[in-house]
Amino acid sequence: MKLPVKKCKQCQSILYTSKYHCTTCYSDELEQTEIDGKGKVYSYTKIHAAPKQFAGQAPYFVILVHLDQGLKVTGRFNGNNVQIDKAVELDEIKDRAYFFKEVGTDG
Ligand SMILES: [Zn+2]
Repeated sequence: MKLPVKKCKQCQSILYTSKYHCTTCYSDELEQTEIDGKGKVYSYTKIHAAPKQFAGQAPYFVILVHLDQGLKVTGRFNGNNVQIDKAVELDEIKDRAYFFKEVGTDG
């Protein structure tokens, strides 16, 4: 699925939706857009001791995804087999958290 982001009208930088100014040129002329939610696992952490609201889901993985369009986003991995450079795609957005899943490449 697509990942909602903001794009700077001045320099075309892609930003997280929570930003109000461009981090490159400081322009506040941002427009809402969306990009392809596909990328690769850049790093990951296995969470054993989860915050209270996620305790029932532990252990789970928090991953840093390097999206094909250059942005790095932090999210959760839906699954239990995660590796660096594994191809993933955005699966769902819940409570403003991104959940990624493995891309089905080899069927
Ligand atoms: Zn800019």
